[in-house]
Amino acid sequence: MRYDTIIIGGSFAGLSAALYLGRASRSVCVLDTRAPRNRFASASHGVFAQDGSDPMTMLATMRAQVAAYPTVRFVDEAAVGAVHENNAFSVTLTKGEVVSGTTLLLAFGITDILPDLPGVAERWGKSVIHCPYCHGYEFNGKRLGVLNLSPMSVHQASLIPEWGPTTFFLNGGAIEQDAAADLVRRGVTIEPAPIERLVGEDAAPFAIRLSNGNEQPLDALFIGPPYRFSSDIAEQLGCAIKAGQLGPCVTVDEMKATNVAGVFAAGDITRSGHTVTFACADGVMAALAIHRSLIF
Ligand SMILES: Cc1cc2nc3c(=O)[nH]c(=O)nc-3n(C[C@H](O)[C@H](O)[C@H](O)COP(=O)(O)OP(=O)(O)OC[C@H]3O[C@@H](n4cnc5c(N)ncnc54)[C@H](O)[C@@H]3O)c2cc1C
Repeated sequence: MRYDTIIIGGSFAGLSAALYLGRASRSVCVLDTRAPRNRFASASHGVFAQDGSDPMTMLATMRAQVAAYPTVRFVDEAAVGAVHENNAFSVTLTKGEVVSGTTLLLAFGITDILPDLPGVAERWGKSVIHCPYCHGYEFNGKRLGVLNLSPMSVHQASLIPEWGPTTFFLNGGAIEQDAAADLVRRGVTIEPAPIERLVGEDAAPFAIRLSNGNEQPLDALFIGPPYRFSSDIAEQLGCAIKAGQLGPCVTVDEMKATNVAGVFAAGDITRSGHTVTFACADGVMAALAIHRSLIF
């Protein structure tokens, strides 16, 4: 069977697209490894009518609603390869099955590359966080830190005092004098010493142990980690990709079409501002564009 659309990634962007295409009675195959980027957080914030909901519950509800449309099929397997041949896209799955589709939607998301610092990974999405709009309110007025990971971290350190008293951990790195003066003007404390690890029984509060033996108690640490695509299929297909400040981004037009005819992309892989709402809107836009391309 040749599907009207194969969607690689069945999370916020992919399921939003599947919903629209299912409601247009188009045949859709959703491939998903069920590892959305925000699976480390128990609550998703800033989402209309769902503020504070568990993201995995939101996705389970969404998937059940999409599954009610008989033209949508789900396969919980990774897409590992994709080629365009005979006017169709052939997508190979991990166990060797090949699915065929007239169009393709890439919605496989990104993977955060966390710093190799003991104590960070187990707190990711809990008290080590990246987005103040998603998780800052829960730490309002508490002891906040920002970890120096890239030139972008200075920008993060200048924003976070909006939520609470902030320390910028240079972690042995450098900062320009003007930038340091600006942070101090905003009330930020600058800690130059290298960090050894994060210590504590719980996700929060915890402490930053410095190489000089000092420990600084914190409630939350903000980081801006680099990221990579969760799949190389955009590259395999020859999609144009531009470098963003923290990671790559598939180039799309305003309807979410890539430079490769028949290939669309949505969600985190297509933008630098990453939220559930943007991903859902992208999925809807891509679905409209895909439907148009199938009709006209
Ligand atoms: C810790 C954390 C907390 C966050 N909290 C919030 C919040 O509170 N509010 C908010 O609005 N945003 C939040 N975000 C951002 C939000 O998670 C993303 O913007 C959103 O998940 C992007 O949706 P997406 O569909 O583009 O990608 P994802 O949700 O990452 O989904 C990609 C899907 O593709 C699948 N996949 C990957 N590779 C393959 C493959 N080869 N084959 C098949 N399937 C594949 C994955 O398993 C996954 O299901 C948070 C992010 C993080 C990291």
